[in-house]
Amino acid sequence: MDCIFCKIVRKEVPAAVVYEDNDILAFKDINPQAPIHLLIIPKQHLTSIMDIDDSNGDIVKKILLVAKNLARKNNIDNKGFRLVVNTGNDGGQTVHHLHFHLLGGRFMTWPPG
Ligand code: 5GP
Repeated sequence: MDCIFCKIVRKEVPAAVVYEDNDILAFKDINPQAPIHLLIIPKQHLTSIMDIDDSNGDIVKKILLVAKNLARKNNIDNKGFRLVVNTGNDGGQTVHHLHFHLLGGRFMTWPPG
C-alpha cells in the first residue's frame, strides 16, 4: 500500500522509533513543531478517527496509554503537553493513516491555527 506510515511500520522507510509493540508504533515527527513532537500510530492502516468502530476501538485506549507513558518518559508530564488528531482536509490531516501527535516542551497557545 502506498502509505508513508505503513512503509514506516514495515521498516521500508526509516524513522526514529521511540516505542513499538504488536499494535502500535511511535516515532519522532520529521518536521517537529515543538521540542518534543512524536507521532503515535496504529500499525493497522486506519485512515482517520472516522475508521474507528467497535471492532477496532480498543486501539485508541492503547494509544492514549502509550502517549501518557511517552509524556512521562520525555519529562513533559508535569508541565503539560498536547495530543492532537488532525482529521480530514479541513482538520489539517496530510497523512491519511490515523496518528496522534504528542507535542510538548513549550507552552501551547490556543486556539490553534
Ligand atoms: P498531519 O498533518 O497529517 O496531522 O500530520 C502528519 C505529520 O507527519 C506531519 O507532522 C509530518 O511532519 C509528519 N510526517 C510526514 N511524513 C513523514 C515521514 O516520512 N516521517 C516522519 N517521521 N514524519 C512524517
